[in-house]
Amino acid sequence: MTEPLAPGSTIGILGGGQLGRMLAMAAARLGYRCHIYEPGAAPAADVAAGWTQAPYDDVEALTSFARACDLVTFEFENIPAAALERLTSLVPLFPDRRALEVSQDRLTEKRFLRDIGLATAPFGAVDGPESLGHALSETGMPAILKTRRFGYDGKGQARIADMNEAKTALATFGGAPAIAEGVVPFSIEISVIAARGRDGSVSAYDPGENVHEDGILSTTTVPARIPPGLKTDAVLIASRILNALDYVGVLGVELFVTADGLVVNEIAPRVHNSGHWTQAGCAVDQFEQHIRAIAGWPLGDGSRHADVRMENLIGDDVHRAVALAAEPGVQVHLYGKGEVRAGRKMGHVNRVMR
Ligand code: AMP
Repeated sequence: MTEPLAPGSTIGILGGGQLGRMLAMAAARLGYRCHIYEPGAAPAADVAAGWTQAPYDDVEALTSFARACDLVTFEFENIPAAALERLTSLVPLFPDRRALEVSQDRLTEKRFLRDIGLATAPFGAVDGPESLGHALSETGMPAILKTRRFGYDGKGQARIADMNEAKTALATFGGAPAIAEGVVPFSIEISVIAARGRDGSVSAYDPGENVHEDGILSTTTVPARIPPGLKTDAVLIASRILNALDYVGVLGVELFVTADGLVVNEIAPRVHNSGHWTQAGCAVDQFEQHIRAIAGWPLGDGSRHADVRMENLIGDDVHRAVALAAEPGVQVHLYGKGEVRAGRKMGHVNRVMR
């Protein structure tokens, strides 16, 4: 194994939200400095050594950011291609661009998953109203129409029961390319968080069971209520994705549990909200695991020493933080965001249950 990144080196993080903040804190524990690149407000910058506040098309800012960093990673997917082009010509990026290209576009992502032999919802490309007929013949009805790019937390998607609804939904996307997906008859949703090191070693955490409210993750509970065979399947699925992408870092895979086994919903090439439980359930949490992977350290083993329920504090939920902190076994994480807004992730708690 090559030497890990030297102590005192600087890790650049594209994106300055809570994921970047928790990555920066983990990096600090391993002796690194972090430099955040974020055009907007940056809770991550409060705990980092540096912050470039500039848009993603500012070539000069990108260049000096890259020069200030020994390697760069990211905490969100929608980084413009031109910015990536510029950065990767100057500094190593982990995980590399391919992971972003696959996950930035739901159609590319589904095709990639299908090509490596994994089960997905039936799907069809929707480039405009004229392709709806063909796409919906692939998916059947009801179906879900999603924008191919820039969708998150259930945004940019609509359930449709017939062609009229499909046309109406598509019109609300304002001409953005879309994908139609068949509705997967799932019993529960789970996710698996896994990491791959620079030497190709893989380590996976136990799958967590996810509950969403209004399209936003509400809770993740480990262990998920699934038989041991499905746990193995989840880990194998994540490993196959990691290897196929020659991936370095932490990846989240969202899965539907169905009567016929696991169906992949989507992949996130980064630390993931449904992996926050690892902060209270594992010796090495997903944030440290990501830093270890990209910096060339040995990976943590991922084994779980406690049952945990993670609950997101969304909008006004944040006002419960102090009361929750008084409960036994509860770990509180606040993201340092100024303004409380409905639907905004303000923090989370990890409740150790056993
Ligand atoms: P996504 O943004 O693709 O993760 O979708 C948000 C949520 O919508 C998922 O967590 C599921 O609860 C639901 N969903 C998305 N796609 C499908 C599908 N093809 N079949 C059933 N439910 C879905």
